[in-house]
Amino acid sequence: MRTLELEIPDWPGHVAGQHVDVRLTAEDGYRAERAYSLASAPGEPAVITVERLENGEVSPYLTQNVRPGDAFEIRGPIGGYFVWRPDDGGPLFLAAGGSRIAPMRAILRHRRNSMSEVKARLLYSSRTLEDVIYREELEGEEVFHTLTRAQPPGWTGYSRRVDVDLLREVAWPPEHGPLAFVCGPTSFVESVAAGLVEIGYPPGRIKTERFGATGGR
Ligand SMILES: Cc1cc2nc3c(=O)[nH]c(=O)nc-3n(C[C@H](O)[C@H](O)[C@H](O)COP(=O)(O)OP(=O)(O)OC[C@H]3O[C@@H](n4cnc5c(N)ncnc54)[C@H](O)[C@@H]3O)c2cc1C
Repeated sequence: MRTLELEIPDWPGHVAGQHVDVRLTAEDGYRAERAYSLASAPGEPAVITVERLENGEVSPYLTQNVRPGDAFEIRGPIGGYFVWRPDDGGPLFLAAGGSRIAPMRAILRHRRNSMSEVKARLLYSSRTLEDVIYREELEGEEVFHTLTRAQPPGWTGYSRRVDVDLLREVAWPPEHGPLAFVCGPTSFVESVAAGLVEIGYPPGRIKTERFGATGGR
């Protein structure tokens, strides 16, 4: 896992939830392009947080080889659906699986920086406590952790995959008019979105983003 701050000439600024495409070109001209969510709030330097995937093409390079001052191509900011502006309101129910915390961090930071009064809750599913990204920063937020593989001694959070009962306990009740953002691997996104619908969230109030292994949605 590595967080990179990008210095992008003529960067127009971004909206919380947007992503960039990183394009790498090898000496022989071979190109690979992958999407990375912006983890910083609007007005802050563009930041991405990359999880290293074994045998991946792009993430090992970004997490291990890139040095400060290196240059690579960036396209963006991209995305007009999985985004949040303070005027969109809430309360916000954010659900992130694994490294997919990046856009949620952007939303939470934006909410804080803009002194928005919109309430926010985050459900964050990780394999182990060591896999939790931005742990200290998130301590200032209303966060419900679930650790699905292993839990440290004395763990008081959840320790199972997200199911409807868990959502009933942590998600804002539908009568509060919540707006949900769900981001993660496809199976996580599908089960959380279906669970939210089951507890009464209108599908139109649930925004989802899947991080496909090969960058597709
Ligand atoms: C909107 C969006 C936002 C995203 N944001 C982030 C983010 O903030 N942080 C982040 O880390 N990722 C993010 N992703 C995912 C990211 O785009 C990449 O998909 C990810 O980094 C993996 O790219 P890679 O080139 O390293 O791996 P790839 O080369 O694409 O490989 C992915 C995995 O598949 C395996 N694999 C590849 N080819 C084969 C094959 N032929 N057979 C079997 N297995 C194979 C590899 O071993 C690897 O484990 C996002 C994706 C989207 C769509």
